[in-house]
Amino acid sequence: MLVVDEAHCISEWGHNFRPDYLKLPTYRRELKIPLVLLLTATATPAVMADMQAKFDIEDEGLIVTGFYRANLDLAVVPLPAEARDGWLQAEVRREPGAPTIVYVTLQHTAQQCAALLQRAGIRACAYHAGLDSALRSQIQHDFMAGKVDCIVATIAFGMGIDKADIRRVIHYDLPKSIENYSQEIGRAGRDGLPSRCIVLANRAQLPVLENFVYGDTPDRAAIVTLLEILQQSGSEWEFGLLRLSNDTNIRQLPLKTLLVYLEMAGIIAPAYSYFAEYRFKFVLDKAEILARFNPDRRQFLEQLFTCAPQARSWCTMDFDALWQGYQGERQRAAAALDYLQQQGWIELESKQMTDVYRIPPQAVDTDVLADELYALFEKKELSELARLQALLAFFTSTRCLSHELARYFADEQAPSQCGHCSVCRGEVAILPPLPPLTLPNENGLLAWCDPLIALCHTRHPRILTRFLCGIATPLTTRVKAKSLAGFGQLAAHPFADVLAAVSRIYPAHHD
Ligand SMILES: [Zn+2]
Repeated sequence: MLVVDEAHCISEWGHNFRPDYLKLPTYRRELKIPLVLLLTATATPAVMADMQAKFDIEDEGLIVTGFYRANLDLAVVPLPAEARDGWLQAEVRREPGAPTIVYVTLQHTAQQCAALLQRAGIRACAYHAGLDSALRSQIQHDFMAGKVDCIVATIAFGMGIDKADIRRVIHYDLPKSIENYSQEIGRAGRDGLPSRCIVLANRAQLPVLENFVYGDTPDRAAIVTLLEILQQSGSEWEFGLLRLSNDTNIRQLPLKTLLVYLEMAGIIAPAYSYFAEYRFKFVLDKAEILARFNPDRRQFLEQLFTCAPQARSWCTMDFDALWQGYQGERQRAAAALDYLQQQGWIELESKQMTDVYRIPPQAVDTDVLADELYALFEKKELSELARLQALLAFFTSTRCLSHELARYFADEQAPSQCGHCSVCRGEVAILPPLPPLTLPNENGLLAWCDPLIALCHTRHPRILTRFLCGIATPLTTRVKAKSLAGFGQLAAHPFADVLAAVSRIYPAHHD
């Protein structure tokens, strides 16, 4: 039996798509596994259909359990962005000791909100991926133990914790999707007691969320670059993901997706992976280590140590020198180092995971293939943007929020009026209109874009638009575009508007 947890990750149309999951149906067929159990708490009907299709599951095999949570009070509070701080302070102070999670999108917002609450006398802490792991587990621990009452977190928080008495979940920023919302409010009230879930909503946050989507769509030209690299590599293709991401200007996650697409199309086949770099520190004295081996192995280790020049304390393994000087094989050396590490005699670090693929000989029309792959990413982008619109539609719904949420996840059994949501209380959310945004004129745009063009020799409208909207890509990171005046200047504008303006100045050229 094959059991897949978080099985919604298999669908490109759900949230949290993980490219490697796409390979599971193939593995199942190859290994002839008769039975499959897919588990998820966040599948929409479309994702369920996708899961069913990929694993040949009939309708009888689909079980949807209830989504409705009677103890959660759901509320949407429409509020202009600048009014949120005052609201948050007042709300948390009303019940300062109630265990609370405040969700925000960006790390610096987490810091700012936590500081704001601390100034108001709340025992609050920021929590995000930018903090080191020791501090993060300390904060989790303090929250579990009741020493901290309020955690202001990016979505990194909550995966590992199971605190039963969380009384309040506040979304200071819009959640990334309805699926994320449902997961995040799911952390409230696990003890079954009444708990409140409040979303502060306005349209000003939408561009930030849309920009996450736009940043993950590779340009067609980038896909062509990847295919050309592949063609030039012969029958075996070897690369480190970070390097390849830089060389193609495709972010790592979509790059992995591309590789899986290529693998599934039979263009490449995974062979093996290895670490390109090893370095180690002696814990035990070198002579003492050597003394523990028989003469044959001792000789090999001596050669190995000779080929690992020591800087201050770290020795860096030079596999080429080992092979050239003594015909010592990389594999044997790596195994020996692993063994020494297991014994606790050295401290070993391995870096730069390198993947090796076989490339079966075949004629590939790069142009056609690039079109097909690009079309897949365009479709994915559109579906992600549609999901954001669904998110706004949900929060502005005129029907019971508990009912709508359950229905989104194919649970038709929830009461049609829960009596404990803002809509049932007669407060349908009407989002405040966006403050009017004006794009700069042509000269203004030129002044921002030209320095970037000079650095990267491209005037591709999408590259320029990502730069103006503050979306980092491997290319802009490499040329340190963040230090240019234009970076992120138009982050509050809808991407599509900026793209239209930029395309008028720098007409698209087909690449
Ligand atoms: Zn309701």
